[in-house]
Amino acid sequence: MNTHESSHLDEVRSLIDQLSRYQRAYYVDNQPLVSDTEYDRLFDRLQDLESRYPSLRFPDSPTQRVGSDLDATFPEVQHTIPVLSLDKVYADSELLSWIERTETKVSRDLGIVIEEKIDGISIVLYYEEGYLVRAVTRGNGTIGNDVTANVKTIASVPLHLSEPVTVAVRGEVYLPKDKFETLNSLMEVPYANPRNLAAGTIRRIKSSEVAKVPLQIFVYEGFWDGETEIKDHLSILSKLVHYGFRVNPNFGYFTKSAERAKAQLKEANLDGIGGSYEDIANYIQHHTNRRSSLGYEIDGLVAKVNELEVRIQLGYTAHHPRWAMAYKFESPQAQTTLLSIDLQVGRTGRVTPVARVKPVKVAGSTISNITLHNQDYINMLELAIGDVVEISRRGDVIPAVERVIEKNEDSEGVYTMDPFCPVCGTGLVQKGAHTFCPNPQCPAQVRGRIEFFISKGGMDIDNFGPETAAVLIEQGVLQDIPDIYRIDYRKVLGELSGFGEKKILLLEKGVEESKKRSFTQVLISLGIPELGKKGAQILIESGLDSMEKLLDVAKRQDVERLTSIKQIGEKSAKLYIDALNDPAMLERIAALASFGLAMEEKEDAHALVNESFSGQVWCVTGSFEHFNPRSKAMDEVLKRGGRTVSAVTSKTTHLLAGSGGGSKLKKAQEIGITIVDEPTFLAMLDKGEKKQEEIQGEFSF
Ligand code: NAD
Repeated sequence: MNTHESSHLDEVRSLIDQLSRYQRAYYVDNQPLVSDTEYDRLFDRLQDLESRYPSLRFPDSPTQRVGSDLDATFPEVQHTIPVLSLDKVYADSELLSWIERTETKVSRDLGIVIEEKIDGISIVLYYEEGYLVRAVTRGNGTIGNDVTANVKTIASVPLHLSEPVTVAVRGEVYLPKDKFETLNSLMEVPYANPRNLAAGTIRRIKSSEVAKVPLQIFVYEGFWDGETEIKDHLSILSKLVHYGFRVNPNFGYFTKSAERAKAQLKEANLDGIGGSYEDIANYIQHHTNRRSSLGYEIDGLVAKVNELEVRIQLGYTAHHPRWAMAYKFESPQAQTTLLSIDLQVGRTGRVTPVARVKPVKVAGSTISNITLHNQDYINMLELAIGDVVEISRRGDVIPAVERVIEKNEDSEGVYTMDPFCPVCGTGLVQKGAHTFCPNPQCPAQVRGRIEFFISKGGMDIDNFGPETAAVLIEQGVLQDIPDIYRIDYRKVLGELSGFGEKKILLLEKGVEESKKRSFTQVLISLGIPELGKKGAQILIESGLDSMEKLLDVAKRQDVERLTSIKQIGEKSAKLYIDALNDPAMLERIAALASFGLAMEEKEDAHALVNESFSGQVWCVTGSFEHFNPRSKAMDEVLKRGGRTVSAVTSKTTHLLAGSGGGSKLKKAQEIGITIVDEPTFLAMLDKGEKKQEEIQGEFSF
């Protein structure tokens, strides 16, 4: 090792350690510590040092192997095909020169396919004689985790192909953006992006949990066993479509001549865009611009040599194929100074450090406040007041502090959160990675709850803004949500400046009007953790359409009733149950009910399939083949206008009896109410549907 090399040894070792730590957080924990751009910056620096000083190229370097996502919880299996990463460029000119270099290397003209680089989890699907036998994660590129049972829950993964072939298919499992928004709003600790949520899901232990997440797949490579007639990538895509796979139709195919590219696409019966090499820069620009309008995340594009014999000729490094190149999008970044860090106490008591930075423009918006999540995050960045920092907008949206560029030498060291609540002075407590103020009476929490209740996302009370709430809190009359309906506004505000007759009248009217809000809105406004609009709708649509029913589920600690609902996981179910058993919450609900707020969803708010069970009152006993859990059967009753009860009484009209029904069955027989078995119930559901079709048919043109 010469002096130049040894002077860089420390930096290389430190980069290897840092990148390995980031890889673990990203691939295994699914909670990245830095943005992809920051990770790639460090990776590129390491790659640059290694190419300049080959003796510093260590076997454990992340540049020499595939970042491993192996997880000890799942069985490990050997891949039969190379499952590697991709080399990358950031500019169209770099991509074009890679194409040129590759053509020179193999001394022939090539066809180049450019696909979207889906930001999901890499998966290999192994089929034998047309049947899916194994689904394996990328792992370390040679060995992956067997996640077959979980992947089988993805509706767009065919379990059986249209031909009895033995083939390995590479694809990317992803979560559509809109589904991510919905699911993430239900999470206690939200994921930073759909990729992380999808990666966490595919490694769940229970496949039933995976099935609740609407994952999708796009496949992009096929490797056949033995000789095939397939000679190029276009034929691979076309064959995969023929087998029944979901292939992303957004791709381009480029050769020196646009006509030839179009003709080849036509021959392969594919819909991609054909063009010449001159069209590549435009194609990239167009795809970069439309990235945000896609229903799924992409983090770049992938250019691939079309001809398979050339791929064999070019081969692989230990990290990537030489016949493909990723064009990566960069997330917008800027530099600024950290002015201070404030602690914010939310309505659930969570204390969040927020960086106040010197205002700076990033991708069109001015950023001055950035969440720092928790103390771990601050420690990881080694952040001190006065540091010059690099900030980005991850996924083009959420601002984040990425790293310190220049240390403030005069600072008092890494910022540490005060151990007491900045608002009420109570000692803070740690729950997982986050810090909480445990005092439910903390003015910040009280204010947060009230502000949320009156806000647009809550009860949307007209003429009642946070400023009015602040005045009432200060006056000591607004201590909890129900006070909103108790206060004599005229008496409290009449004497205060800024509150004229008209303003008070409008405020009173707003409060009165709000009593007519729907049950969905009341439920959301209570501020139950993780229960937003979607969550409330999901609960109500499942039949839990009144406070009585919800409180009953909570009282019985019936987690299963909630987890039986698609999209509600165990964590959220437990949070809902805990919140609805909290004595302060129960008191709040009772008071709101006494003021006439809606405590059940009106029937017309239900998405009724039809009215065939209208006027009927159903109870259920025993277990069923088609309805597991059996609450699903009761959901069908509700969807058809019926009511459901948990015990058989003289008012019950029908008992749905499955195998093993006990005391309810006996009682129903004694009272003489209609007892319905599963086949009869299924026929009744079917009949109702047919009847509805007939009615609709009468009005169709
Ligand atoms: P990669 O994401 O750069 O590219 C390889 C992967 O792209 C393939 O494995 C495949 O799964 C996927 N892909 C999607 N669409 C494809 C298509 N149409 N054709 C072929 N492949 C397609 O490489 P990687 O090794 O998976 O991950 C490295 C990248 O991950 C880094 O560049 C960085 O962006 C990110 N990363 C981030 C952190 C972090 O802390 N933020 C840590 C590790 C890795």
